[in-house]
Amino acid sequence: MARDPKYDVLFEPIQIGPKTLKNRFYQVPHCIGAGSEKPGFQAYHRAIKCEGGWGAVCTEYCSIHPESDDTSRVSARIWDDGDVRNLAAMCDRVHHYGALTGIELWYGGPHAPCMESRATPRGPSQIPSDFEINIHPRYMDRDDIRTVHKMYVDAAVRARDAGFDIIYVYGAHAYLPFQFLSPYYNKRTDEYGGSFENRARFWREALEQVREAVGDDCAIASRFAVDHLFGPASIEVGEDGVRFVEYVDHLVDLWDLTVGDIAEWGQNAGPSRFFEENHEKPYTGQIKAGNHTDKPVVGVGRITNPDTMVAIINSGQFDIIGGARPSISDPFLPKKIEEGRLDDIRECIGCNQCISRWEIGGPPMVCTQNATAGEEYRRGWHPEKFSTARNADKGVLVVGAGPAGMECAMVLGKRGMSAVHLVEADKEIGGCINWISQLGHSDGKENLFRGSARGLGEWARVRNYRQIQLEKLKNVEVHTGSRLSASDILEYGAEIVIIATGCRFATDGLNPATHDRIEGADGTLDWQLTPDEVVRGGKQIGQRVLVLENEGYHMGASIAQKLAGEGKDVHLVTQSGDVASYMEYTLEAPMLHRDLHRLGVDIHTYTMLEKIEPGACHAYNVWDPGHKDVLEVDTVVLCTQRLGNDALYHELRADRDRLRSEGIEDVFIIGDAAAPRMIVDSVFDGHRLAREIDSPDPAMPLPFIRERRLWGTASNDDYDGELRAAPDTLPLEALGEEVPA
Ligand code: SF4
Repeated sequence: MARDPKYDVLFEPIQIGPKTLKNRFYQVPHCIGAGSEKPGFQAYHRAIKCEGGWGAVCTEYCSIHPESDDTSRVSARIWDDGDVRNLAAMCDRVHHYGALTGIELWYGGPHAPCMESRATPRGPSQIPSDFEINIHPRYMDRDDIRTVHKMYVDAAVRARDAGFDIIYVYGAHAYLPFQFLSPYYNKRTDEYGGSFENRARFWREALEQVREAVGDDCAIASRFAVDHLFGPASIEVGEDGVRFVEYVDHLVDLWDLTVGDIAEWGQNAGPSRFFEENHEKPYTGQIKAGNHTDKPVVGVGRITNPDTMVAIINSGQFDIIGGARPSISDPFLPKKIEEGRLDDIRECIGCNQCISRWEIGGPPMVCTQNATAGEEYRRGWHPEKFSTARNADKGVLVVGAGPAGMECAMVLGKRGMSAVHLVEADKEIGGCINWISQLGHSDGKENLFRGSARGLGEWARVRNYRQIQLEKLKNVEVHTGSRLSASDILEYGAEIVIIATGCRFATDGLNPATHDRIEGADGTLDWQLTPDEVVRGGKQIGQRVLVLENEGYHMGASIAQKLAGEGKDVHLVTQSGDVASYMEYTLEAPMLHRDLHRLGVDIHTYTMLEKIEPGACHAYNVWDPGHKDVLEVDTVVLCTQRLGNDALYHELRADRDRLRSEGIEDVFIIGDAAAPRMIVDSVFDGHRLAREIDSPDPAMPLPFIRERRLWGTASNDDYDGELRAAPDTLPLEALGEEVPA
């Protein structure tokens, strides 16, 4: 299909300094866990988006010097020629698709803990980080300022040599240039502190020197948080925000605008639970609306809807549509708009699982909607291309249409299996998504500061995208309202059977804290509920409710929010030091805590239950079990742990002779049915099996490429040509190490 003319504006070229952006789709810098250490991952992940139509893609934040080292998180680095070589692989691959590459030069100041380099970060004043724990910067005198400016320039030159088209002097998220600009960090009394011009001087000089060094060859960009969201204590958009844009506008070719800082960067990478699409508009929208810049402006806000994109351009809010998560969820988003295939767009659900893995520090990025994200290089997965399976003549029965089953059936269909039947016991497909997407609400009121508990409605996109795709696949049949027994499956006629029957909550209090049941816990009683029962209804919920939350992700907190929002008196009990601790990684925690606090939820940390009886829960402190308390409640919600629905799988596998006689070649189990997990991992599990259904042993994942140093191979030649070994280790030759002449 042809593109709808109303979207033509999105495909207009934009001039950015000396470079031409071929359309208005721009992947802003975002972390993936590749950095400069995994050049294959970096190159293939970024370039797949360019194949999908993105006009520009950027690296994640890229350290300019060992003094800006974010270990244990993974940043890119452009410290030396080795980094140039690795990042050049990304540039080459991106340029192959006619797209531009950007690099975000980063010096973190006290927000860089330098755990690998052991360096001491410098900062405008000796104010410790409000993000990292106990990291104080060294006060920068004028020589230090010159030194750090030179780091920017040297890094910019290396970036140009690597092939980057757009070079950022990155000051958003409260990193060093912003620290100079903001009186929240900058307490100086010299010409780099005090007045606006003084506070802006460091950033202005950095821009001047980088422009002088590479400005003829590359476009110069700056990422700027127009409002720190701290009020008069820091940068406010209506004050120094617009003032700074006007002050250095002549030095940049592109503005990349955000809000907030790194300590609470969920205000920028807003989870859908609290923020709607284009949520930054009240702040970032002021820059062009007030004619404060002559330069192109790119901004973000989980913008996935093409109509929203057009409205943003036509209203003059931004010139360029920025995307981080939308580009992860659907690298082919621009191409699908261009080809009039809007119903094929795999919209981001705003769960921030992608961010969580970077926040944890090591693993590659993942995506709930796009199981191929991060797998482009190491597993060779393409988000839109599927090879025909070598055993495509086989019929497949997928039992259970939750996230894993839907994904598996969809990919099997795209791989051309002759017949795929997806059979679901419920009336609708979707599995847990159908009730989880109804959570996350409280009473709809604003939080104390920012965002409101608008709920997990966008998570239903996990179901909606797959439902549309399944309907399009002629070789896939979906049957609902049909609960299959083992004999039904044996007689079904499929040669491959995949069990994706999901999981259930424990009803007896079995939990990860004690690995035991809880006396009196009994989900069959009408005053004890599992989380899904709270949503589905059917049991009366009293005024006084205790939610026992042992999982550590969102479920217990979501239930507490919902019930407190409905006016119940809620106790939220956890064995941990914090409720829903994983939500720190998804950036949802600050808003969640504000909402729980505002709603008056009574949180009991380091607490477990030893006994539940009508009207009362007997609790104890996990560090001091003798310290007990009795909480008088009417209703108990048991969010303790889940159990895989694997009985069908084991029953089938127990009788291999019967399987053979019925012509069933193999039986597999995927997703929560195998082991309860996060939705992102269930989707991956279903996808992985379908991708490898024709491998020698589909139950065992194929090995993936590991980008690592292989001992005994020469890979230090880009550093200083000198391989070093500690004096008491074996000579390099003995280890098979190639010793340079
Ligand atoms: Fe969007 Fe979630 Fe995928 Fe991140 S993991 S890109 S938030 S769907």
